[in-house]
Amino acid sequence: MDVSYLLDGLNDAQRTAVSAPSGSYLILAGAGSGKTRVLTNSIAWLIKTENVSPYSVLAVTFTNKAAAEMRSRIELLLGMPVRGMWVGTFHGIAHRLLRAHWKDANLPQNFQIIDSDDQLRLVKRIIKSLELDEKKWPARQAVGFINSHKDEGLRPKNIEDYGDLYTKTHLDIYRAYEEACQRGGMVDFAEMLLRAHELWLNNPLLLKHYQERFSHLLVDEFQDTNSIQYAWIRVLAGDKDNILVVGDDDQSIYGWRGAKIENIQKFSTDFPNSEMIRLEQNYRSTGTILKAANGLITQNVGRLGKELWTDKGDGDSINLYAAFNEIDEARYIVARIKDWNTQGNNFKEAAVLYRSNAQSRVLEEAFLRAQIPYRIYGGQRFFDRLEIRNALAYMRLISHRDADASFERVINMPTRGIGDKSVQMIRSLARGNDISMWQAARNIVASTAMTARARNAIQIFLDLIEAMDDGTKENDLVGLCEIVIKQTGLKEYYAKEKGEKGQARLENLEELISAARTFDPEPDFSADEADEKAEPITALDEFLSHAALEAGESQSDPNQDSVQMMTLHSAKGLEFPLVFLSGLEDGLFPHQMSTEEPGRLEEERRLCYVGITRAMKELYLTYAETRRINGSETYNRISRFVNEIPSELVQEVRMSNIVTKPVRQVGARRSKVLSGDVDGTDLKLGQRIKHSKFGEGVVVNYEGQGKQARIQVNFDDEGSKWLMLAYAPLLPLD
Ligand code: ATP
Ligand code: MG
Repeated sequence: MDVSYLLDGLNDAQRTAVSAPSGSYLILAGAGSGKTRVLTNSIAWLIKTENVSPYSVLAVTFTNKAAAEMRSRIELLLGMPVRGMWVGTFHGIAHRLLRAHWKDANLPQNFQIIDSDDQLRLVKRIIKSLELDEKKWPARQAVGFINSHKDEGLRPKNIEDYGDLYTKTHLDIYRAYEEACQRGGMVDFAEMLLRAHELWLNNPLLLKHYQERFSHLLVDEFQDTNSIQYAWIRVLAGDKDNILVVGDDDQSIYGWRGAKIENIQKFSTDFPNSEMIRLEQNYRSTGTILKAANGLITQNVGRLGKELWTDKGDGDSINLYAAFNEIDEARYIVARIKDWNTQGNNFKEAAVLYRSNAQSRVLEEAFLRAQIPYRIYGGQRFFDRLEIRNALAYMRLISHRDADASFERVINMPTRGIGDKSVQMIRSLARGNDISMWQAARNIVASTAMTARARNAIQIFLDLIEAMDDGTKENDLVGLCEIVIKQTGLKEYYAKEKGEKGQARLENLEELISAARTFDPEPDFSADEADEKAEPITALDEFLSHAALEAGESQSDPNQDSVQMMTLHSAKGLEFPLVFLSGLEDGLFPHQMSTEEPGRLEEERRLCYVGITRAMKELYLTYAETRRINGSETYNRISRFVNEIPSELVQEVRMSNIVTKPVRQVGARRSKVLSGDVDGTDLKLGQRIKHSKFGEGVVVNYEGQGKQARIQVNFDDEGSKWLMLAYAPLLPLD
């Protein structure tokens, strides 16, 4: 059999790695040098040339997206599906093992996974039940204590306190938390890994079985394994000495979650016969992008050290865009992506990366407005949760009877005796007559089409919606939320759901009411584009569209050609022809929490290195001079990381070059110029003022004229704010 195609196009070092005889290898190499490709080809090579069964291969990577890509690349190389093969994330594989061996793992068969929100909530309750002062013992800190110890493989009984209150109290919480989880059959993320490891330690026969089964172990993104993951794979490898790990110390970005770069050194000690292979040619990016990445990362000390080169040309300059605010930033990105698409490129080749999930909402809105399909990877948002979607579907139906998707979602949720058959009939009547399902249901109720019982059940549902609609007239948004949650039976329904999940769902429904209470439609910057003759939108509709945006309900389906949006963390291992790194502002990226600690700052820099090296052809860096995020407005300086990129590689894009239609008549770039008069007033940029409520500050920007004129002031104590000049109680100081 000719298998040379598995080596075709590889460089010498890559070939050596792929066709290496059995043994252990550490491939330590920079971004885009083909580590993942080597790992994938190695698996195909083993199966094709060494008759290794796919069943005997265990491949671990970091995200589900990366795992799916790896599997499909292997299938492509082999020309056949490889179902029996274990390719997944550490968590995914641990979960699979625990399901298969729940008894040995001392878990109930139907154990539940709790996410970090559930975990936090449970710990909060435990702190209360232990009668501890929540202010002194914040739940978040306790969760951190629990998880970091689990990541080190430590149960309460393995942790010593030296009589100090901090450790002693946290141990009490940890113990109570463990008991609660065990009682309720709940497993958190860190627990999954720890249990899977204990599964090996406590069941020698089971371990032996898996050691024999998996003749070959391969780990991608090895630099981000934490202690327990490493221990798990180390024990599984036994003394077979048949393990391939690939990684890059410059891309270690999970230190905050216990990842240990030291595992790279540990590997060489634990597998003394292992061979180290280095790859130095980068195949992914243009010379310019690579130089930028190299320039940035040399600012870190204590690297294992490697230089990447490419034989691709320099390519385009890196573009830097200083946005006026986050909305302007989103618009700019959308405009660039539109151009990209008009030039005949696919949306899915474009990725927008950000440091924090909270940045995505404004970008989403901009994509929606431009009708560009997008997809967000990772992270379930509040409005995406099942119970919230159900409640919102009721609200949508109250507002729009013809909302068929909502109709389908709730007609029998909670169950009210309307069977699939009835729904099917309503659906086909609606389709056949081109009417809404609501209308079809009404027609059926008025006919003799179904049994009286079935019709009656539908009638009750229709009446319920009508009755709640009547309620909207007397009630505000909050009142309506309360009505929906109670009268639909959702509350009762979830109250019956046992355990942590049910509890969480009830709390989320409560949270929906408070979301309605605090819902305050922001005066949208796009208002100037709105048609003045447009109908005023009701508070309910405004709330619903807000929720839909937040939920990403209008996200495209996975197969549609859509822009890829994700956090920098979830972009690891991926590559895209066009990449935007957004929100490059000190405080956001590098993240506020990291700027005081050199170790954390270096990790942020590696994260930026990861971001830059995702780009193949074109890279855009954007930042906003003011940003509203998590409910407050901030005024930030450009990220220090941008300044660490050799300046000759970066080209600053000016506002006037890119705005095709006037976005808003703003003093767009004026905030940079800290002098000059504020038109039509006796204020100057850079001037100190005193505000009756916010205290003293400096005028840094302004926009608009006459009654609409607004100024931006950086207050000494209250942060940065935009104020309407006409109303602001200001006193010029100097
Ligand atoms: P990262 O550190 O970001 O995970 P990596 O080292 O895993 O990167 P790969 O994703 O395997 O790198 O490869 C980067 C790109 O270069 C891919 O598109 C891959 O197909 C391509 N590539 C790898 N090796 C070669 C080669 N010898 N010739 C041409 N292209 C290659
Ligand atoms: Mg890779």
